[in-house]
Amino acid sequence: MHSIAFYSRHAETDLWLTPLQQALPKAAIKVWPDYDESATLALAWAPDQAFIDAHPHLKVIINMGAGVDAVLALRLPKDVAVIRVKDGGMAVQLAEYCCEASIRFYREFPQYEQQRQQHLWQNNLLNDRAKYPIGVMGLGVLGEKIAQALRFFDFPVNGWSHSRKAIDGVQCYDGGELEAFLKASRLLICVLPLTDETRGILNYHHLSLLQTDSYLVNVARGGHLVEADLIKLIHEGKMRGATLDVTQHEPLEHNDPLWDMPQIRITPHIAGKTQIDQVLAQVVPQINRWFTEQRVEGMINTHKGY
Ligand code: NDP
Repeated sequence: MHSIAFYSRHAETDLWLTPLQQALPKAAIKVWPDYDESATLALAWAPDQAFIDAHPHLKVIINMGAGVDAVLALRLPKDVAVIRVKDGGMAVQLAEYCCEASIRFYREFPQYEQQRQQHLWQNNLLNDRAKYPIGVMGLGVLGEKIAQALRFFDFPVNGWSHSRKAIDGVQCYDGGELEAFLKASRLLICVLPLTDETRGILNYHHLSLLQTDSYLVNVARGGHLVEADLIKLIHEGKMRGATLDVTQHEPLEHNDPLWDMPQIRITPHIAGKTQIDQVLAQVVPQINRWFTEQRVEGMINTHKGY
């Protein structure tokens, strides 16, 4: 019988296990801290080092999410293949999230929310959309969908990625053109993977390059943003605010200053939630492939970190 090592910090472990066991009736799925030392394949979300160390024969780790930073931060068995979920139902949710934040900023809905508090029926002028260019950092599976969704609303959209992309209606910049990309953008959406190169990329210097009265949406990882720099820029009046789905420390400490800033909206890392059926549709064929052919597809580049 094939042994699968399973680790999840999701509260809904049973929601995963029942369909997984149905799809793989011959597999012995061991849910950590129960384990089988001889397992060669792990299915995991944000595992800890003890889980990895308990399985010295692992050859494949299937990450049940899009971002692999938590897995790659661990000491892994030599030459282990790491696979991740691509989209898994998250792209459309991230597009919804980013469009909501962008439209709210552009249409000045916070102003109308304030007016409502004052029982004030006042019709303000509509902003000029051309003055709200949006920059999307990271044009992978998720970033491309976000950029396309913003284009649907006719926003001017810029995109930045390591290698230059070609996306209809989107002004694309490559890795060496970060400064030009930032200067051309007023709203900035970060959907980059967290790697050695991108950690802290949303810092004072880079955020200062955005156009006047700028706004940040971070749906990537808390490690991308230097939170003190964002707070400083807002206090200096250089940035209007931010919508943060991710923070440096999660969960965000009860007494963290970010909570008390009215210019900052915070959600608890929910912008894109994995859809179990869509994830299993990717994962089950990989598991079958591994146990029948000893190979998997779409490994991430562990040196690049994504
Ligand atoms: P992909 O690997 O498909 O895309 C990554 C993109 O980032 C690529 O366009 C890549 O460029 C670009 N990139 C990476 N490093 C650099 C760099 N140093 N400079 C410039 N561009 C760079 O990832 P996904 O779109 O699937 O996911 C992106 C991230 O979104 C995840 O890693 C995760 O952190 C986050 N996420 C957040 C969720 C949430 O709920 N908040 C949910 C799911 C994911 P190139 O293609 O040229 O290499």
